[in-house]
Formats: sequence, C-alpha cells, structure tokens
Amino acid sequence: MTNKDLKHSAMKKHNFYAGPSILPQYTIEKTIEGIKDFAGTGLSVLEVSHRSKEFVDVMNQAQALFKELLNIPDDYSVLFLQGGASTQFAMIPFNLLNKKAAYLDTGAWSSKAIKEAKGFGDVTVVASSKDKGYNYIPKNYNIPTDADYFHITTNNTIAGTEIKEDIDSPVPLIADMSSDIFSRPVDVSKYALIYGGAQKNLGPAGATFVIIKNDILGKVNRHIPTMLNYKTHIDKGSMFNTPPVLAVFSALQTLKWLKDNGGVAAAQKRNEEKAKILYDEIDRNKLFSAAVPNEADRSLMNITFVMNDNYKQYEQDFLDFAAQRGIVGIKGHRSVGGFRASTYNALPKESVEVLVKAMQDFEKQVS
Ligand SMILES: *Cc1c(COP(=O)(O)O)cnc(C)c1O
Repeated sequence: MTNKDLKHSAMKKHNFYAGPSILPQYTIEKTIEGIKDFAGTGLSVLEVSHRSKEFVDVMNQAQALFKELLNIPDDYSVLFLQGGASTQFAMIPFNLLNKKAAYLDTGAWSSKAIKEAKGFGDVTVVASSKDKGYNYIPKNYNIPTDADYFHITTNNTIAGTEIKEDIDSPVPLIADMSSDIFSRPVDVSKYALIYGGAQKNLGPAGATFVIIKNDILGKVNRHIPTMLNYKTHIDKGSMFNTPPVLAVFSALQTLKWLKDNGGVAAAQKRNEEKAKILYDEIDRNKLFSAAVPNEADRSLMNITFVMNDNYKQYEQDFLDFAAQRGIVGIKGHRSVGGFRASTYNALPKESVEVLVKAMQDFEKQVS
C-alpha cells in the first residue's frame, strides 16, 4: 500500500471511535516515514537504541512540546510510562496516599481508580453521580482538608460528561485526563499530577503520560518498587528503562501537528464548534436525545445520545445507515447503550457534518 492509498482509505471513513481513536493524518504519515527511515539514520525507529542521540532527541522534544503547549511550570516533570491509565490508578495511591485520599466518583473510570486506592488507605468518596447512571457532574461537595490528595476524572469517556474548568482544591489535585488532554488550555499549576493513556487524543496505545509536580513525593513510608516509583522516572528524565519508543515518536508528531495548528486554544475552539453542531442536531432531531441533560456537564470529546423510546427499534438500522456513509465507531459503550460519537482533536468538522446529515436523512426516512 502506498502513502496515497492510505490517505485515501483513511479519508473515506469518519472515525468516531472512543479509543484508540482518530489521529491526525500527519501523525500517521510521519510515523510511517520514521518506521522506514528514522531521522536520516538509515534505520527504522523500531530498531535503534533508545540511548541513541536521535531517540534522546525525540524524548526531549516530546517533553519540551508537552510543556510548551500546556504551559507547564518549571517545577513539573513530563513522563512517558507504560501500563496505561489503569496502572496509574494504583501507582498514584502507592506513591501519594499516606492516610486518606478523597475521590469524586463520576463514572466507570473513577470507580476503578477508587477501587485501587482502597488497597492503600482510607478513601473518602466526596460525591457520586452513580444514582443517575453518571449522567451529570456532582456539584457542591466538600473536599476534606486532611486528605493527602483529591482525585477527579475530568472527562468521562463512557458516560459523556466533562469537568471543563480547573477546579480549586484545598489539597493536591490529581486528574485523569486520558480523554481530554490537549482539548483545551489547562492551568497545570492547580494540579499536583495529571495523567492519561495516550491513545485517546495524543498517539497510539502504549504510552501513558504523567505530568507531575516534583515536590509532591516523599510523603509515604512504604517501600515502592523501583518501576512504580515516580521518583525513578523523574530522576532519569523518563529514560530509566526502555520507554515506549514508537508511541513516544508518534505522540511527538501529534504535538507538532497541534502546535502548527494553533495549539490548545485553537483546538478548544474547533472542539466547541464541532460539539455544538452535533448537540444542536441531537436536541433538534425527534429520534434522538442527549444522554447528558445538563448542557454544562456535556463532554466536548465524547458525545453520548440515545434513540427516543418510540424509535428504539431503529437503533441497529441507524448504525447500518451511518456505516454506509463511512461513519464508524458510534455504537455506545456496552454499559450505556445508545450512541457515542467521539470528537477528538484530530476529527475534522466535516465528519461531524456527515454524521448530522445522516441523522437528518434517517429521521426523514423513518417518520
Ligand atoms: C480509556 C481511559 C482509561 C483507561 O486507559 P488505559 O490506558 O486503557 O488503562 C482511564 N481513564 C479514562 C478517563 C479513559 O478514557
């Protein structure tokens, strides 16, 4: 397959998968180039030492661009680890939970993080939206001031809710931003730690990013295995052992693309515009309803909606109808049902417009 063929086959599809998910065509092409000939070495990026000058350069550039794009203060480190966001659910309390931690329960991923933390100390769940299938963000909760940290999931990939502001916390704030990192500007100084899997908005699966304030460590007495100790990775610039070389190389291409396209502020504008087009149609179309009733809580990254009761029998028909137009990945998560359209940074507005047109045409067809 030539580059041209790939471009064509990728362009034919409108990719709404939740993760792994759409990446910029730039990232795909630059990754192919690097696999064939990496930085003029005559070798593939798959077969060079991670200690080579060329790869050390990639790691340094990726960390520097991360810091530049998110305006990360100097006393923070950017790490690329392995094990996914799911390993962070345990690594965070392992390193930081001394006596008690506070968590906000906004969905399946929060619940998994809470479950892991319970193995390391007391866990206070300050509020939960489980009573309504996680279709809203709880407000007016109290964060205990004696907690070692407060953990939130800013974007709930499955339910389709999002905390779009950087909240104030009296204790160190930790956020799972797996599915909304780089979708908007973030005031990193308000957080002690931000983490996520790369495979939603950044690069291929295999890298886990961690933005960590260097001075939050050293407060627990337990023995921490070397690889699960943040200090190991901070001290070695994320190069203690072999990092996920290809995933970091590929993520760097996305970071370059993002910078060339105006950075996170411009991405936020595009994301708001795309989300508005789709939510407006969901609200207008008599076949569908948004899964998240409160507009302020609706995610800009994972737009969840259901078919209204009178039309429920057409759910599969709509998926088939959409598939004929090249729309893929809109089936809702198995725990929620209905539909979910993920509108990450790399998804063009045109794909949203094609989905909206399909919703309109399907409405005319069945009513
Ligand atoms: C996908 C996702 C996870 C799980 O990430 P893995 O890298 O597969 O462990 C955790 N949290 C959120 C918010 C996610 O979207």
